[in-house]
Amino acid sequence: MVDLVIRGARVWSDAGTRVADVAIEAGEIVDVGADLARGAAEFDASGLLLLPGLIDDHVHFREPGREDKEDFATGSHAAAHGGVTTIVEIQNNAPLMTSRAAVEAKLALVRPKARVNVGIYGSATVASLGKLGEMADYVLGYKIFLAPSHGDAGVDSDEMLRALYREAARAGRPVVVHAEDKATIEKGLAQFSTDGPRGWSRARSPAAEVLAVERALRLCEETGARTHVFHLSAAGSVDRLADAKAKGLPVTGATCPHYLLFSDDDVARVGGLLKVNPSIKGAVDRARLREGIRDGTLDVLETDHAPHLPTEKSAPFNDNPSGISSVDVFLPVLFKLVEEGVLTLDLVIERACRAPARLFGIANKGTIARGFDADLVLVDDRQPWTPRSEDFLSKAKLSPYVGYTLPARVVRTYVGGRVAFGD
Ligand SMILES: [Zn+2]
Repeated sequence: MVDLVIRGARVWSDAGTRVADVAIEAGEIVDVGADLARGAAEFDASGLLLLPGLIDDHVHFREPGREDKEDFATGSHAAAHGGVTTIVEIQNNAPLMTSRAAVEAKLALVRPKARVNVGIYGSATVASLGKLGEMADYVLGYKIFLAPSHGDAGVDSDEMLRALYREAARAGRPVVVHAEDKATIEKGLAQFSTDGPRGWSRARSPAAEVLAVERALRLCEETGARTHVFHLSAAGSVDRLADAKAKGLPVTGATCPHYLLFSDDDVARVGGLLKVNPSIKGAVDRARLREGIRDGTLDVLETDHAPHLPTEKSAPFNDNPSGISSVDVFLPVLFKLVEEGVLTLDLVIERACRAPARLFGIANKGTIARGFDADLVLVDDRQPWTPRSEDFLSKAKLSPYVGYTLPARVVRTYVGGRVAFGD
């Protein structure tokens, strides 16, 4: 007798969805078909849609260091709630992941608490130069901040960046980049910082991102290091990425749902809950990002889940820290983009599961068939869902998605055949 049979769901596959049973044994899918024999456990999933679990290649869970904002118990529960079964996490508060010892200690601390599969990035900073190789077996890539966004994580000198890129290339892991130009933003903030949301948009401008993307691509070309540019927000960045791909550079790009759903007008209306780095830009940028995620210029959809305290996210705009609480609603928000005609369900699986799996060498995910991991999500897409603050399992309960009506919700999530959400 197998461990579990999920019975009667509409099972998604590349060939379309069909009603079937899914049998799971020792964390793997062992059969998909009609009228499968009873399992030790059974779940009646009639009417629900069964999808492969998502892989979110960009979250911040703040542990160690800022467990008051989030930790891996709450963050990973929130991820499972959002249909995510694998996360790749970026430490952007102290202590940064600048050595093998730091990386090993973090994994030993957080993996036992996590309800989902956990990968992490190393920090590529001045402090970790010369140590990227020693952590290669423990990380999926090396995070570089080309931005004044996150304390002392930023790297500014071309010489230093080149050295870090070369070292990453030697270690055989990609460089993952936050691309915003420090000088442009500092100048902009000096000029516009008193203007609230509109000033923020002017300071963290499309030009600030495009300049940094150009720099990241130059470094990629010079060093041959595989480069993945996170959370792109500007039309010009999509164009630069398209050019780089046409040249054959080993480069990929990502964006987040908030750049595809909202515009700077929404930031002006909503305020601090939509304050994020890079800033949410204009409708023209949003249109180009939507095109880029459809045609594959942008490879990956990610949340950039960035939890902050309710007191912080309710502060006046200029005192409000950047970052959106979003991993709780990732898959339902992607359904919203399907409803709006931006994505199809097949594209959701490609951009938010299969593409990151390929990029970071994560095997056995993204397909509901014999031999694949039983990382699965049951979705109720028969009626809309309007999340309330208390529905968020993240500690960050203030989100622009509170009160925002979505076309679906996650009912139950399995990681390796075990219930990670919905028990
Ligand atoms: Zn981030």
